[in-house]
Amino acid sequence: MLEVTTEATEIASIFINLRHTSISKRHLPVRKRKEQLRSLEEFLLKNRERIQQAVNTDFKKPFMEVDLSELYPVLGEIRHAIAHLDEWTGPKKVDAPITYFGTRSEIRYEPKGVCLIIAPWNYPFSLCFGPLISCLAAGNTAIIKPSEITPNTSALISELVSEFFDKNEVVVVEGGQEISTELLNLPFDHIFFTGSPAVGKIIMRAAAENLTSVTLELGGKSPTVVDETANISSAAKRIAFGKFLNNGQTCIAPDYVLVHENVKDEFIKNLKSHTLALFGEDGKLTESSPSYSRMVNSKHFLRVQQLLNTAIADGATVEFDGTINEATNFFPPVILSNVSLHSKVMQEEIFGPVLPIVSYKNEDEVIELINSKEKPLALYIFSERKSFRQKIERSTSAGTVCLNECVIQFTHPNLPFGGVNNSGIGKSHGYWGFLEFSNQKPILKQLTRFSSISLVYPPFRPKLKMMIDMMLKYF
Ligand code: NAD
Repeated sequence: MLEVTTEATEIASIFINLRHTSISKRHLPVRKRKEQLRSLEEFLLKNRERIQQAVNTDFKKPFMEVDLSELYPVLGEIRHAIAHLDEWTGPKKVDAPITYFGTRSEIRYEPKGVCLIIAPWNYPFSLCFGPLISCLAAGNTAIIKPSEITPNTSALISELVSEFFDKNEVVVVEGGQEISTELLNLPFDHIFFTGSPAVGKIIMRAAAENLTSVTLELGGKSPTVVDETANISSAAKRIAFGKFLNNGQTCIAPDYVLVHENVKDEFIKNLKSHTLALFGEDGKLTESSPSYSRMVNSKHFLRVQQLLNTAIADGATVEFDGTINEATNFFPPVILSNVSLHSKVMQEEIFGPVLPIVSYKNEDEVIELINSKEKPLALYIFSERKSFRQKIERSTSAGTVCLNECVIQFTHPNLPFGGVNNSGIGKSHGYWGFLEFSNQKPILKQLTRFSSISLVYPPFRPKLKMMIDMMLKYF
């Protein structure tokens, strides 16, 4: 697959075929899209074990975690799209103001055309197939470029796509940066990119050459605030789950915790015990714990290790850790306190199982710290005080917010998902995903021979002024 598709000419010819199909697909009834999604749902369920196996081979993600965090979000997208596609695709009538007397208008949703989906490695299956569902629901064709860092899952995605789809409708092109760069030269009708803010900028620059619209699902440092009124045990349990799931390699994982100084010790104690209970076995979290994933490769292992070592050199205290094994990319959960705000661990997205805890005295410190950084993808606030939650939420900006919860906003079918500025542009999932892949086309129809707007056509003689004056004042 790789050798064939690395050729620029090969990619260009795939693109031309997809373009032809995208034009003919425009005339298919929405019923056909639903039928396809229904059989895709069945097909993926039949291939559940292959999916579990491939992701597990890439980074030892437990099979049940693969079901929950890779397959289930995709099945959820499919079921939600099937249930709502008629409503989403139906023309939406809009009212006409009096100046448009005699007209009727509506918004129709047309497929954008040929779309490019570029995915990261951390949820390698769901971040390819999730956007693909929105893309197909909107009636498009697609090229998918999975991540080269999870080769087993990428190869499986390629196999599954060629088994299920016509080769002129959806195609997988495997490869790394060079292949992405080649793909980005093509005039796609939409690019849906999930990955880092740094690469997001490269994607947006390339898209600008063709004036291609983009959805950028990016990352960053997601703050988590725990105030003194929070239910500490439940906050610690939810944070442990959100942080250490997938070995901390989750775009919306809590990146650091700001905890009120009065409850810091109690919070750390609870965080340790919940982490052990969730991911360990018999009170220990070792390489044989079946519920804990691995770092994806040694490059990321060493990157996180370096962040940790620098934090310790900058004065951080290790509150909880285990035995690291570089040979197997086993990186146990690490909880740090007394972390310097200037240390690299508080500057860069961690994207690994290291959790810095920073204590605060008053709300303004929290707001100032969050606002001193790029706008995050997620903000989590744990507090029993509504006024506190509101103050933090309204004084800061974030892509998504969870109050007294953590990471579960991602799979809610009726919520848009996405970042803001540095953490992303555009929204995905459900209806919002459908909109990203659709051109919202306004259609205005004049129903009468007489057009009310003709009353203000030129020539601009003095008697027209009275009419325009009235228009400016009243309509
Ligand atoms: P990445 O940006 O390095 O790579 C993402 C994709 O871009 C890969 O397919 C890769 O091959 C391609 N790519 C890499 N360099 C490129 C270049 N120079 N030109 C063109 N394409 C290039 O990201 P990653 O390391 O795979 O994933 C981690 C990042 O993704 C984190 O920042 C994380 O927060 C973010 N993320 C965001 C979401 C979200 O939904 N917002 C979800 C998962 C991950």
